Amino acid sequence: MIRFESVTKLYHLGDSVVHALDGVDIEIGRGEYVAIMGASGSGKSTMMNVIGCLDRPTSGRYLFEGHDVGRMSDDLVTKLRAGEFGFVFQSFNLLPRMSAIEQVELPMVYRHGRNRRRLAKEALARVGLADRMHHKPTQLSGGQQQRVALARALVVNPRVILADEPTGALDSQTSTEVMEIFTSLVRERGITVILVTHEPDVAAYADRRVRMRDGHIVEDTAKVALPA
Ligand code: ADP
Ligand code: MG
Repeated sequence: MIRFESVTKLYHLGDSVVHALDGVDIEIGRGEYVAIMGASGSGKSTMMNVIGCLDRPTSGRYLFEGHDVGRMSDDLVTKLRAGEFGFVFQSFNLLPRMSAIEQVELPMVYRHGRNRRRLAKEALARVGLADRMHHKPTQLSGGQQQRVALARALVVNPRVILADEPTGALDSQTSTEVMEIFTSLVRERGITVILVTHEPDVAAYADRRVRMRDGHIVEDTAKVALPA
């Protein structure tokens, strides 16, 4: 589903060039559960941003379902991003004044005219927050806020969830609850989950662990080589 061929991403900072991704080859199939690990600055977030079409490679090719994302128009890339990917971040990225249900309705502004409330309720119920729909972020615990963010990511039925350090701000009990939801998305709904984490016990939930260093993949536990 996801295929990188010698992907690089360079950032220019004054006179110096940062090789955030320095020739990455990887394939991730549908329904895989992948943890990306590595030191700070090793290129994990850059890789997630390229996968989620938030950013384009400097060179190399990114194929999504066989389509070269680099050759798509901006409009098409925007559609691909909105339709296929759900994003979850360490800091939840919720809007302070909005209730849980309003946050979850937000991504549907562009998609469904009707049924927004019903779909948002269903998404919140799926993450165990049916009884917290009208709470605002400050009235929710960290774990509950992350579950609202997850419901917001899920409400458009993405095929891929990209989670950048989703448990980074959570205690271990709450991390477990959130990770169990990710696991159920893979096992019960066949969603592809790719998450970045520093914590080995979080990475242990995934079926495959990829380690990055200086913009390279230095370790990948993928059991079977995927066909080219
Ligand atoms: P990680 O998520 O593994 O901590 P990142 O992908 O965020 O790493 O960053 C990889 C490298 O690219 C780092 O050296 C970082 O400083 C640099 N970098 C990331 N984003 C930018 C940017 N927008 N501008 C300049 N440099 C960046
Ligand atoms: Mg990062």
